[in-house]
Amino acid sequence: MAGWVNAAAMAAALLVGHCAAAASAETCPHEGALGTSRVLSVDPKHYPRVGLKSFPDTLPLHDGEVVLTFDDGPSPPMTNKVLAALARECVRATFFLVGKPASGRAALVQRIAAEGHTIGHHSFTHAHFAHITPEQAVEEIDRGIAADEKALNGIETTTPSTPFFRFPYFESTPAALDLLASRGIAVFGADLWASDWNPMSPQQTLKLLTSRLNQARKGIILLHDPQPRTAAMLPAFLRYLKEHGYRVVHVVPAKTDEPPQQHSERPSGAATPPLEGG
Ligand SMILES: [Zn+2]
Repeated sequence: MAGWVNAAAMAAALLVGHCAAAASAETCPHEGALGTSRVLSVDPKHYPRVGLKSFPDTLPLHDGEVVLTFDDGPSPPMTNKVLAALARECVRATFFLVGKPASGRAALVQRIAAEGHTIGHHSFTHAHFAHITPEQAVEEIDRGIAADEKALNGIETTTPSTPFFRFPYFESTPAALDLLASRGIAVFGADLWASDWNPMSPQQTLKLLTSRLNQARKGIILLHDPQPRTAAMLPAFLRYLKEHGYRVVHVVPAKTDEPPQQHSERPSGAATPPLEGG
């Protein structure tokens, strides 16, 4: 199994064009690190919309498995702190970038990718999709992707290298959902979050997140790398995951000819978490 995981991790790393250094705990140069337990290829055809906050379906994660996602960057110096904490534990995450800040920070965007993380998209100006016209929504999606791609690859294209999108504030609209589906872009919601946009200490953020995780036991976790409280609590959170037997799953875009992975099961009686902004 370990061999398969390593092979899959390396294949996925190659697939997304990153250096092929496996991030598994066995090969991590830091002794006792959390590591990345497996790579999950996500094909938007099979997983068009994931995250129980907004949708009926989520990723096929097992008990104890989490996917770490960071929104609203790139934003130095906090994004750099987050990257350092992830690197120390050999953990790979997904960053949903806002296009406007990304356009002026190409080096940081490229560093995120070079360190093996997945880059998803989070609009151009972090717009409220519920309050803009359908035409503006298209522009937010396209300009955001184009700015992220230009920063990442030097090519301004509205075809994303990684077809993952998350709506700011989880404000999807039927028209924008249809558009993303028609373009083969998976929409990521979240299963749980730290409410790290609310004023509180890093310790309070950590406590809130771990208590929610212990209830949910698994899921896509939403965090915000520009938030100082998040950057501050992340090393302790990753230690917590390690010490409590949680495992980190890295999501990457599937190759187009890949067979579907095991479908997710809707947790029975899954309680919808309280509605909050984000
Ligand atoms: Zn956001």
